[in-house]
This record gives sequence, C-alpha cells and structure tokens, in this order.
Amino acid sequence: MTGAVRAAPAACVIGWPVAHSRSPLIHNYWLQHYGIAGEYRREAVTPEDFAAFAGSLAARGYVGANVTVPHKEAAMTLSLPDDRARAIGAANTFWLDRGILRATNTDVEGFLANLDACAPDWDRGVRQAVILGAGGAARAVIYGLVARGIGRIVVVNRTFERAEALRPIFGTAVLPAHWQDLTAVLARAELLINTTTLGMEGQPNLDLDVGLLPSDAIVADLVYVPLVTGLLRGARARNLRTADGLGMLLHQAVRGFTLWFRRTPEVTPELRALIEADLAPPPDNAAHANAAKQAEH
Ligand code: NAP
Repeated sequence: MTGAVRAAPAACVIGWPVAHSRSPLIHNYWLQHYGIAGEYRREAVTPEDFAAFAGSLAARGYVGANVTVPHKEAAMTLSLPDDRARAIGAANTFWLDRGILRATNTDVEGFLANLDACAPDWDRGVRQAVILGAGGAARAVIYGLVARGIGRIVVVNRTFERAEALRPIFGTAVLPAHWQDLTAVLARAELLINTTTLGMEGQPNLDLDVGLLPSDAIVADLVYVPLVTGLLRGARARNLRTADGLGMLLHQAVRGFTLWFRRTPEVTPELRALIEADLAPPPDNAAHANAAKQAEH
C-alpha cells in the first residue's frame, strides 16, 4: 500500500456562545446513520478570534463549518460568498474548495425544502405571499420565494424602512407594508410566513387573527421554540396547511453535510424526534434557557 492515511473529515459549528447549538446533534446523527467516518464538533470562538479561526480551518483539520451568532455577517468578509449569501448579507455555512474558503446561506433551501415537504406543490397556487419581518431570516425567505417565481411578496415590518430597503435588493415583487396594515393584507395572504421573533418563548405573542386568512392559505412559522407556536396552532385549528420552524432548521442542515461529507442526508421522522426531545422543556420549564436555544441557532 502506498500514500498517507487520510484523516476522517471533520466539520464544526463556530459560535459565541455555542453550547446550545443543535447542529452537532443533527450532523453526528447523520454521520452515524450513514456509517461515515467523520466528526462534527462545537467551537466556541470569540468575535476577536473569529477571523484567525476561519483562516485556519484547514490547518485545524476541518473541511468546513457552520457559522452561527454572532459571526454570520463577519463570515462574509472572510470568504468567497455565493449569490444567496450576498443577497441575504450573512453566511451560515463554510466549505473549503481546493483551498478556497467558500460560503453560503442554507436558510433559503431550508425554508423551501420544508415548505415543499409540508405543502407539496404550494408554488402552483400561491400568487401572493405575506412575510412578517424584514431581518436576516426574511431575506432568506424572500430570496427563495423570488426564485420560485412568486410575483407579489408583501413584507410587513414593525420598522417600515427595513421592509422598504429590501425592494432594491430583491426587486419589484417585494411590496413593503406598515405593521398597522397587517389586518388588511391577511385576506389575500395565500402564503403567510412569520420571520419575526414574535411567538418565541420569552418574546411577546404574535397578535394576529388567523380567521382573516383565505380558507386555503398556507402558514409557515420560522420560530421553533416552542415547536407549535400560537400562529401554527390557530392555523391548524382552521385546517390550514402549515410548515414549522424545526422542519426548516433540519432541512437547512442538508447542504452543509452534503458539501463536507459527500452524501446527501435525509430529514427523517427519527431525526426530527431526536431534536424534538432535545428541545422539550426541562422539567422545571426554564423558559429562559429554551429561548436561548433558538437564539443561538
Ligand atoms: P432579526 O434579523 O433580528 O429580525 C427580527 C425581526 O423580528 C425584525 O423584522 C423585527 O422587526 C421583528 N420583531 C422583533 N420584535 C418585534 C416586535 N415586538 N414586534 C414586531 N416585530 C418584531 O432576526 P432573524 O435572524 O431574521 O430571525 C428571526 C426569527 O427567525 C428568529 O426567531 C430566528 O430564531 C428564526 N429563524 C429560524 C430559522 C429556522 O431554521 N427555523 C432560521 C433562521 C431564523 P424590526 O425590524 O422592526 O426590529
């Protein structure tokens, strides 16, 4: 036999703090499930040390990494980001491509793949979508909706100027709206997506009358702590099709795993159950600790 023995590929999630990230649980589940000799670790890296860490990924034995709070914007300047990361203004996945550090944002495909799984053919019937929120997650959702040809995307945000700022980036399909206009736009929301933090444990509720939505509307919520938000509960009570935040979280992990470990993994009920158990409130119902779990995704 000739040649050196190659080390098993390793990836990690880089954050500060990083203890509550569910990415190790997801990726190590897949590594074990597919019998791949690889490793996925947590790396707690301060903002001061992030640039040096990103620049030394290969030397540390990594083929790539997830990037989480607070490094997603800084990741853009340290790598070669793709179009979607550039449009969103943040990257959550690094991979080394023949020595070049590339970056993408997998929330786009996470959102779309989850919607495809929960409401097949949704894009055949939807002409108008309503998005609540105009932050980083909203940008990923808008990118995905534009890519699927949705012609009218109403973006309702508390700070109107942030919604307005998305139109030059994503084009004339984006229609900014004031938060006070929410009730008026719901009647024509064939697809409603909450990308705000409202409804998340420890945050105010999303005060919205689901009864105003069309009878065939689809409702998605990016919040996954709690798993079933008030918005999703209301939509399900009306028998509307829904897509939850945990589904998006699981689907967004697929691309990173594929890039690093050269196998496209599946989002299965078994994986979902594993993460659901991890997200389950502790016996003393420590709401604060749980909210931190989502914030650090
Ligand atoms: P962000 O950039 O901080 O944006 C937060 C958004 O929420 C803004 O539009 C903000 O409005 C709005 N908001 C906050 N408090 C509000 C209030 N009291 N009333 C009305 N609007 C309010 O955060 P992000 O990165 O976009 O994340 C948003 C949510 O998506 C978080 O819950 C995050 O965990 C979740 N997320 C989930 C996934 C997943 O895989 N499931 C992926 C990404 C994000 P202003 O502009 O007026 O401040």
